[in-house]
Amino acid sequence: MIILFIGAQASGKGTQAKIIAGKKGFVHISTGDLLRAATGELKKEIDSYITKGKLVPDELILELLKERIKQPDCKKGVILDGYPRNLQQAEELEKIEKIGKIFEIWVSDETAKKRLMGRWNCKKCGVAYNIVTAPRPKKDKICDGCNIPLYQREDDINEEAIEKRLAIYHEETEPILKKYKDKVIRNNG
Ligand code: AMP
Repeated sequence: MIILFIGAQASGKGTQAKIIAGKKGFVHISTGDLLRAATGELKKEIDSYITKGKLVPDELILELLKERIKQPDCKKGVILDGYPRNLQQAEELEKIEKIGKIFEIWVSDETAKKRLMGRWNCKKCGVAYNIVTAPRPKKDKICDGCNIPLYQREDDINEEAIEKRLAIYHEETEPILKKYKDKVIRNNG
């Protein structure tokens, strides 16, 4: 059985998903992280979607996800963060695993935009800081744990990409919450 975390960009779903996965001993799979870890020609193709704020094609992300989910560490349980993003992906997921609870993390578009602009990440440990809201790093744009410079994602600083991602969230991702409303637990992000 798989637990889903669904929320708009910068809702904090990744942070929450990691905390719950750690507490339960489940594996946290972020499809955004899977895509960002790609290399070579595949990376070029993936980046051509991500930097514009578009979803990568369903078949491509499904292949990567299937490969990850069949690893032995996923046997105890999986928390999926960032998948499914549309109804078709939800259908594909149901063919692989039963969907358990769905945690919706809600934020307004206004808050999401403000947070995205201030989001700085650590490439090494994956922690996301926020220099506008919180949590701020102790030293300016340096990771507290790894002591290396933080970076901003290209799709977080491109206003057009941000608008596109939020529009896709409302049009394509939110219908999943309607379809599976009996499984949804709503939280404010
Ligand atoms: P995230 O880290 O979840 O914000 O995802 C960053 C970007 O990766 C998204 O804007 C999409 O371009 C892509 N992405 C992540 N998950 C998916 C998915 N399930 N389907 C398609 N594209 C995805």
